[in-house]
Amino acid sequence: MFKAPRGTSDILPQEKAYWKYIEEKAVYLCQLYGYQPLNTPVFEDYQLFAHIAPDGADIIKEMYVFEDRSGQKLALTAEGTAPICRAYLEHGLFNLPQPVKLYYIIPAFRYERPQAGRYRQHHQLGCEAIGDADPVLDAEVIELMYRFLSSLGLSELLIEINSIGCRQCQPGYVEALKKYYSTYRDRLCPDCKVRLARNPLRLLDCKEVSCQEIITGAPKITDYLCSECQTHFQSVQKYLTELGISYQLNHKLVRGLDYYTRTVFEVKPEGKGVQIALGGGGRYDNLIEELGGKPTPAVGFAAGIERIIIALKNQNVIVPTLPKPVAYVACLGTQAKLEATKLVSRLRHQGIAAIQATGDKSLKSQLRQANSLDVKYTVIIGEKEVANETAVLRDMSSGEQKTVPFNEIASLLEKR
Ligand code: AMP
Repeated sequence: MFKAPRGTSDILPQEKAYWKYIEEKAVYLCQLYGYQPLNTPVFEDYQLFAHIAPDGADIIKEMYVFEDRSGQKLALTAEGTAPICRAYLEHGLFNLPQPVKLYYIIPAFRYERPQAGRYRQHHQLGCEAIGDADPVLDAEVIELMYRFLSSLGLSELLIEINSIGCRQCQPGYVEALKKYYSTYRDRLCPDCKVRLARNPLRLLDCKEVSCQEIITGAPKITDYLCSECQTHFQSVQKYLTELGISYQLNHKLVRGLDYYTRTVFEVKPEGKGVQIALGGGGRYDNLIEELGGKPTPAVGFAAGIERIIIALKNQNVIVPTLPKPVAYVACLGTQAKLEATKLVSRLRHQGIAAIQATGDKSLKSQLRQANSLDVKYTVIIGEKEVANETAVLRDMSSGEQKTVPFNEIASLLEKR
């Protein structure tokens, strides 16, 4: 028996209700905030992702990489920001009035160790505001992310923010961090030994118990910010306060990718123990330039749909069910089946969702199927009904039945 690959899952119809609920809220809010949809392909040139992370970075190690038949090295999309920036450059969106505000809902692929809330294929809602350094945009994307999650019915959300500086001030901090960590080299976990050499900011992100004490004593990046970054960060906080968005400063917050500058943020459910992030993002003022464009500031976030669904279930949020068929048309006999076929077609033409009984099922098993489909009405056509050009219309909740002429069924159901 084949199974879905490890770390991936099928989305069954009952689960789809969550997806529809989340996607509709996302699209509504993105439009409300002036973000427009942009879809990028499910795979990209491998170099696009290789460009945004140093060798040995998790995202590079976890990428699904393959060569196509022409020998081109490609990668399944690992995250949404780099492809959006590629599209921004490729289609000359920098010629539009800035900022250009875009959103997407895409699958992302990472070869991670599967566990609750961590899969090899997951989906992200992402929003990016490209072409403006205004701190009000940082506050806007944080507000949008928060509003998206809270409007779904999630409560007790904790927003954490930090600033990780810019090209001017970050290197000074990284030096101080390396100096501090070099005295603890022998006590570091194997991953942190690599981070110290390759990606020191990520040292602050380590989840190993043995590294926690070291992290606690580490220098704080906010003490090393240049005056521009300090002003920017203060403005972001001022706007958030004005918008009524509560947040906590977390000077240990860094993001997985190299391209982040200045503001970084994450949102997670509040509570004890390890809480996995529902979404996160930040400013990435150097990325577009690194991809070959002019220096272009930008800010955005991505939220994980599967993790949102887990949180909705944990918080017992009831979501609307998917629309159900209105009518089930049962029949007995060849002639009745012909009439049933015509009736179902007529109902569907009139926009009434209808299911036709198929096969040679007994009336009892047809009614059982109608019940399990949770339809409002069952229409029953037997030999007697064919002869009289009528059908029996049964209201499934009250059990009430009445005989209705064929040509009146559709309009009757439409009225009801
Ligand atoms: P990132 O691009 O790593 O910032 O991820 C953005 C969001 O996607 C995270 O906050 C998570 O909600 C979600 N996410 C990231 N990686 C995974 C994964 N492996 N499985 C499920 N959700 C994920």
